Amino acid sequence: SSTPQTYTTSTAASQSWFARASTVTPGGVNSPVRAFNAVGGTPRFIASAQGPWLTDVDGRRYVDLIGSWGPMLLGHAHPEVVAAVQDAVARGTSYGTPTEPEVMLAEEIVARTPVEKVRLVSSGTEATMSAIRLARGFTGRDVVVKFAGCYHGHVDSLLASAGSGLATHAIPGTPGVPGSSTELTVVLPYNDREALRAVFAERGHEIACVITEAAPGNMGVVPPEAGFNGFIAQLCRTVGALMISDEVMTGFRASPQGFWGLDGALEGWAPDLMTFGKVMGGGFPAAAFGGRADVMAHLAPEGPVYQAGTLSGNPVATTAGLTTLRLATEEVYAHVQQVGDVLKVGAAEALTAAGVPHTVQAAGTMFSVFLCDGPVLDYEGAQRTDTAAYAAFFTSMLEQGVHLPPSAFEAWFCSAAHDDEAVQAVLDALPAAARAAA
Ligand code: PLP
Repeated sequence: SSTPQTYTTSTAASQSWFARASTVTPGGVNSPVRAFNAVGGTPRFIASAQGPWLTDVDGRRYVDLIGSWGPMLLGHAHPEVVAAVQDAVARGTSYGTPTEPEVMLAEEIVARTPVEKVRLVSSGTEATMSAIRLARGFTGRDVVVKFAGCYHGHVDSLLASAGSGLATHAIPGTPGVPGSSTELTVVLPYNDREALRAVFAERGHEIACVITEAAPGNMGVVPPEAGFNGFIAQLCRTVGALMISDEVMTGFRASPQGFWGLDGALEGWAPDLMTFGKVMGGGFPAAAFGGRADVMAHLAPEGPVYQAGTLSGNPVATTAGLTTLRLATEEVYAHVQQVGDVLKVGAAEALTAAGVPHTVQAAGTMFSVFLCDGPVLDYEGAQRTDTAAYAAFFTSMLEQGVHLPPSAFEAWFCSAAHDDEAVQAVLDALPAAARAAA
């Protein structure tokens, strides 16, 4: 390619900003996943981004495979999204009254997914927190079942680790969460039907909901075994519990209809509630939860379950999300899928050539590369991944101008803007990175 390389090997400016950041912010970052603690080195401070490229404050350029951890399906600074947002900003940024774009965004979500009604919020955490409150309010029950390795945001009751035994006693996963917040949470191994069946047999009448990532992406991509999600839906129905399918990461990403489009849509079932975020905000803070109309009718002001937000349905954020979804056509998903397919093969070939154990797993257009033998079926399996090897791999890729997630347990996010040049840059970097990981 003839694109000029604005390349420098200096990281002086990022280091200087990281030092300043660390003085005023714990760990120098505003979300722990951005830290380089697991891989070593200094987080790059990004000054701008365009399409598939990030440019840092030193003027170094990287192919972006973080994609803001999911939202940037179209790539960075898509001209039509930028124009729509600029137009929205110029008309005022928040009114605290209903607006048109929030209605159109809700309509778009309802059109693409099985949810009948939707409430907009500002983060995925808020969406799952609110969905759980609604499930408890609707069922009049308190117990929440979740799976180890599934992340649903930093909701107290969901920051639970599996206790001993068959995980009937969840313990807080972090200081600051009281035991009373997790004692009503049951944590089970992912993809384990027997464990689910046992808990439902014992405590079915106490269970308000099962919350699951539609296809987990937060322990690396661990797709559900065939029929697993449908099994959850059916089990919930037998006892009057609700299934909450968390599509914050997979929604409008794994397929035009999220992971459900590859799963329930084909098998003929739907979750009772769903949560969304990331892509539907187009890079702005917008998220949502929605589902069965009779369940959603329990939300204030229609029903008694309270939930609210000053910036919920914000006109700028919903304009960005609506514009993004309108541009996210079948062709966009086909391209993202194709880029992913090329990178999956490239990564596997490079790792094989270097003799590094690995397994590549995908859920629709989402994929990740585990540095361990596969298949990875659950959190325990994911933890076999060689984190030291990943650190070496990551660092080599970064030095060669490819920004992977600084964690071995994350999906690699591609976009519609990843063109041949960006893809080739990744393919060119993979062999040396694989050798570094060996
Ligand atoms: N649910 C899932 C599946 C996620 O991946 C995330 C974030 O990564 C969340 C919920 C929380 O979303 P947020 O970070 O917007 O609070």
